[in-house]
Amino acid sequence: MPAAYVGRNVAPKGYVWVFPKSEEEANVGVGVRGAPAKPYLDRFIERHGEMFRGAQVVEVKAAPVPIGGQVSRIHGEGVMLCGDAAGQVIPLTGGGIHSSIVAGKIAGELAGKAIAEGRRSFPEYPKRYAPWSERIYRSLTALRLIENLEDGDLNMLAEVLDGRDIVDLANGFDLARVGAKLSKHPAFAERLGKALLKALEVKA
Ligand SMILES: Cc1cc2nc3c(=O)[nH]c(=O)nc-3n(C[C@H](O)[C@H](O)[C@H](O)COP(=O)(O)OP(=O)(O)OC[C@H]3O[C@@H](n4cnc5c(N)ncnc54)[C@H](O)[C@@H]3O)c2cc1C
Repeated sequence: MPAAYVGRNVAPKGYVWVFPKSEEEANVGVGVRGAPAKPYLDRFIERHGEMFRGAQVVEVKAAPVPIGGQVSRIHGEGVMLCGDAAGQVIPLTGGGIHSSIVAGKIAGELAGKAIAEGRRSFPEYPKRYAPWSERIYRSLTALRLIENLEDGDLNMLAEVLDGRDIVDLANGFDLARVGAKLSKHPAFAERLGKALLKALEVKA
């Protein structure tokens, strides 16, 4: 089953993932901020000997993931930025495949239309992509709020939130609902619940 592991000593401001690809192969990785990634991955593998017993490394890859939110301008004369180049990654998960594919599809359609009409400008692009821009913004808001939590808080948060809450929070779906839930919790009311609701109000 796919699994993610968090904690300052596991992956500072990030997470370790284990995604099985088949009975015999898995994608095992780490995303961190402000620290070198490889030592954390090596340590995780070392500490989970039972999970990786007899396993061999078949491929190693590394690359940066832009999780600072979408850039302020995603189009100009004769150009549309899509995917990583536009910062179109969901910040809390670091997932950018789906959001990049959507942007590429929209940009392709608009480019075709613009060529047919003899134009080089794409004012519709930010509007068409707006629901995803909003998700990226909300996920960034959630990331900023939880990135400085201590491990004890993260464990407590995992107990308070259910699967749907975590998916909503990480992906920037229904932050208002999660914020309302957290604002009733004594430990998280001020730090997370109210702060989340306030951030949404400010944006609205
Ligand atoms: C280690 C890691 C794990 C990730 N895991 C996930 C995940 O599980 N789920 C998820 O949703 N996202 C994940 N992401 C993020 C996701 O991969 C990216 O956000 C997404 O691929 C961005 O798509 P893109 O088209 O903008 O860029 P890319 O997928 O990087 O595509 C850019 C392409 O342009 C090519 N290129 C570059 N320069 C030139 C040039 N000068 N001329 C021609 N071609 C060029 C590159 O070779 C590449 O093929 C992960 C990222 C990393 C680094």
